[in-house]
Amino acid sequence: MSASPSGDPRCPAPANGAGGRHRKKRTAPRGHFIATAVAAGAVVAIGQPLLAAQSVPAAQEGGVRADVLRMAFTAPATTTAGTPAAGGAVVEAEKLQRAGDVRAAVAQRERVAVEKVAADQAAAEKAAADKVAAEKAAADKALADKAAADKAAAVKTAAPKAVAGKAVAPQSTNGFVKPAQGRFTSGFGGRWGSTHYGVDIANAIGTPIRSVAAGTVIEAGPASGFGLWVRVQHDDGTVTVYGHVNTILAAKGKRVAAGEQIATMGNRGQSTGPHLHFEVWQAGGRKIDPLPWLRARGITL
Ligand SMILES: [Zn+2]
Repeated sequence: MSASPSGDPRCPAPANGAGGRHRKKRTAPRGHFIATAVAAGAVVAIGQPLLAAQSVPAAQEGGVRADVLRMAFTAPATTTAGTPAAGGAVVEAEKLQRAGDVRAAVAQRERVAVEKVAADQAAAEKAAADKVAAEKAAADKALADKAAADKAAAVKTAAPKAVAGKAVAPQSTNGFVKPAQGRFTSGFGGRWGSTHYGVDIANAIGTPIRSVAAGTVIEAGPASGFGLWVRVQHDDGTVTVYGHVNTILAAKGKRVAAGEQIATMGNRGQSTGPHLHFEVWQAGGRKIDPLPWLRARGITL
């Protein structure tokens, strides 16, 4: 704390002892009263606060008077009483420090104990959850095994390769499978003033298209109206036709099994949306309605 000697130049210190309404800044009266107190010998009269107080004009504000008294007595008190008080404080601080350390250690031990309990509990809960999951997995597996056994019993003829296929194993009866999964959208016969020589199964582009029976790929490539097609000749001479395909997966000349994927569903050629156009040609080349032909072989669309 330093007292400015003469105060704010914009607000000159008033005449000695006179109160002032202009004293908005505290530095001006402070400086003024230190001068007054020194003149009155108040600073040397430590222990005589009343005398110092009396040296302040009665008209002064109480806050100002208090400042003067603090300045007069605080400084000597701290310098004279410093050493012993500081020594005691150090000892006390060390005690507090030790007490604090002990408390911190206790708190740390408690934290560790709480964390261990929590960890033990979490481990127990995880073990319980794992047990439940394992039981569920075992139950699921038992169900799956039973379903597989039932299916194996129902389907006398195993579909080679197709069983190991991706998402859905194709339906297979006596060596025949559905050409594609999807919605039956159009049948065989007269349509839009002409004849529709096959059936349509709609699904997303990329849906697997499978050979309905074992046979040999006799054509795989572009075809007028179908964009791309694949034709498979079966062992009795029947030919099945798969049109509008997006991609071809079985080249001409390839031997395919029943249910083997030969293409993916597309929207090529004269097509109004992704679908498979499927035809059945008898050995002589006559195109027949695929629905009864498939149904006779255990397949429904
Ligand atoms: Zn069609």
